[in-house]
Amino acid sequence: MDSAVWMPFTPMKSSPEPLAVRSAQGIMLELEDGRQIMDCISSWWVTLHGHARAEIAAAISQQSTTLEQVIAAGFTHGPAEALAHALVERLPAQLSRVFYSDNGSTAVEVALKIAFQYWQNLGVFERTRFLAFDGAYHGDTLGAMATSARSPFTQAFEALLFDVDRVPFPATYLGDNRVEEKELQALRVLESLLAANKVGYAAMIVEPLIQGAGGMRMCRPVFLTQLETLLRRYNCLLIYDEVMTGFGRTGELFACNKVAANPDIVCLAKGLTGGFLPLAATVCSDMVFSAFYSDDTAKTLYHGHSYTANPLGCAAALASLVLLDIEAERWQRLEGWHREELALLADVDRLEHSRVCGTIAAVDVKVDEEAGYLHAMGQHLRQRFLAQGFLLRPLGNVLYLLPPYCIEREQLKAAYACIRQEIERL
Ligand SMILES: *Cc1c(COP(=O)(O)O)cnc(C)c1O
Repeated sequence: MDSAVWMPFTPMKSSPEPLAVRSAQGIMLELEDGRQIMDCISSWWVTLHGHARAEIAAAISQQSTTLEQVIAAGFTHGPAEALAHALVERLPAQLSRVFYSDNGSTAVEVALKIAFQYWQNLGVFERTRFLAFDGAYHGDTLGAMATSARSPFTQAFEALLFDVDRVPFPATYLGDNRVEEKELQALRVLESLLAANKVGYAAMIVEPLIQGAGGMRMCRPVFLTQLETLLRRYNCLLIYDEVMTGFGRTGELFACNKVAANPDIVCLAKGLTGGFLPLAATVCSDMVFSAFYSDDTAKTLYHGHSYTANPLGCAAALASLVLLDIEAERWQRLEGWHREELALLADVDRLEHSRVCGTIAAVDVKVDEEAGYLHAMGQHLRQRFLAQGFLLRPLGNVLYLLPPYCIEREQLKAAYACIRQEIERL
């Protein structure tokens, strides 16, 4: 194909030609050559209800003939106001202010800048350091990358990334009998970092309950509760990066609901518009916002994007929230289905550490070899799954399913059957 497109996360020389997609409906993608592919990863975790959902398409279409875009400084509009209210209504009570941007990385970037400037605005100039987890992924812009785990993906930019202090992530799975030990150890590391940093940390950023790109690593709600208690004792702000976990993914509308957490800042993107348009939100507490609400213009958050609060994105998000409410049963039933299917995979010797959290399930392929081979195996399996008609994109040796909520029981069963078949063939 004669293409001028540079693909994301893709070694352009060695990768197979991209598959050309003609259309998509529900869980299925239709390729130009007529093949049907089942989208088991919600097109990189964004498509919530299914592709081309009519209600969202209609909301965008209608909005586009009324107000398609307007500058967001000094102006506002119905969809931006209504969506901000709808979001804070659904989030923990202290979260009251919505700052819009376009994608998960910008939502994180904004959160980091807000947390940093919060302390500056209070005159606590020395609180400049961040805490984050091992294995974290918070996005691809420089600040988001700095808080993410160091990996081959961040290597070229090392000199540009600020230092953060890391806490081990107590990843767990079904039947894990060492989980409490791992949690205790993580809390011990956190406590010693907090105690050793005499000037205090600005904030800790976490992917609550599930680390996504780091390998669908899951932790228990009780651990996050203990973590929060500890951070509070040291006055450290807490940022929940719910870019992936938001909008039903964990089995609750937000991970902070499931944990009963009270973060100071929450980042939302991916599923916000149901997967139709790029839109993100960084939602802040009264306490954080009040440090910027001042007669002193130096305390302003000088940050914004051209498409901030784009009306089409806001209209899509409002329509998606309605669907999440009226079709709650669809995303709430998925965890039970995953559990049944994972139990059936228990006899596959090459698989271990199966885990599930709400709509997301994952399992590791056993390997002794190191990272380079892992990557090659992920690549190999991806091609095998595609050949069988399934879009599954292993993260190294981690297989996961993160389907749109329209998936039917039999479709999920077929995806698991495909996994069994390809693993047994390895
Ligand atoms: C995907 C992701 C991001 C980055 O979002 P983009 O829209 O891809 O920039 C940030 N945080 C988490 C937890 C994510 O999963």
